[in-house]
Amino acid sequence: MNLILLGAPGAGKGTQATKIAERYGLVHISTGDIFRANIKNGTEIGLLAKSYTDKGELVPDEVTVAIVKDRLTWPDCEKGYLLDGFPRNLYQAEALDTFAKIDGVVNINIDHKLLMDRLCGRRVCRDCGESYHVSTLNGATKCARCGGELYQRKDDNPETVGARLAVYNEQTAPLIDYYTQKGIIHNFTGTEAPAEVLFEEVKRVLDGLLNTL
Ligand code: ADP
Ligand code: ZN
Repeated sequence: MNLILLGAPGAGKGTQATKIAERYGLVHISTGDIFRANIKNGTEIGLLAKSYTDKGELVPDEVTVAIVKDRLTWPDCEKGYLLDGFPRNLYQAEALDTFAKIDGVVNINIDHKLLMDRLCGRRVCRDCGESYHVSTLNGATKCARCGGELYQRKDDNPETVGARLAVYNEQTAPLIDYYTQKGIIHNFTGTEAPAEVLFEEVKRVLDGLLNTL
């Protein structure tokens, strides 16, 4: 089963991605994670990506598409994969159609009023990727799940978040129509309820989808 996870920054994609990948044995491919790893390791791709991610803009399509196209040729992808953060515009979606067969799109809709505070207050575990909100941490600096160090992503500041939300509205939101027309989208509402609640719904739909493949 090959899936795409769609949703605005802060909609809770990361948490759902981990749960979906685990339950269905899928490879979790996050282009944001790939760029952050490259930036951390100072690779050529990292140096290029940094100038865009720092501003909340999209890394150029040719670079991003080439990375994903290559990643999907790795043998582990044969068991199925979950694309998280890709595609992010129509160009990427059309490119993806030339080298991948997507079975379903999980789209998480959320009230955008929630996103600025969620993202600016977000703290992420360096080791397992779990995210938290400062308001619930009571000063804790370690991950409750694995003990890893919590940090604030460099692009989780008001200015960059504003740019990321604008990019989402202008370039990524049109993909909802694109996949609706293809008849493969499944829509969910992200709420302030715990991620497990949303995952229960996602699971019901994906179990059904799996049965039709
Ligand atoms: P977000 O929380 O904003 O969804 P991501 O971790 O998915 O964050 O992405 C972080 C940054 O990495 C983006 O703001 C963008 O600069 C870059 N990026 C990630 N995925 C893509 C993509 N598919 N195309 C272009 N740039 C991307
Ligand atoms: Zn952790």
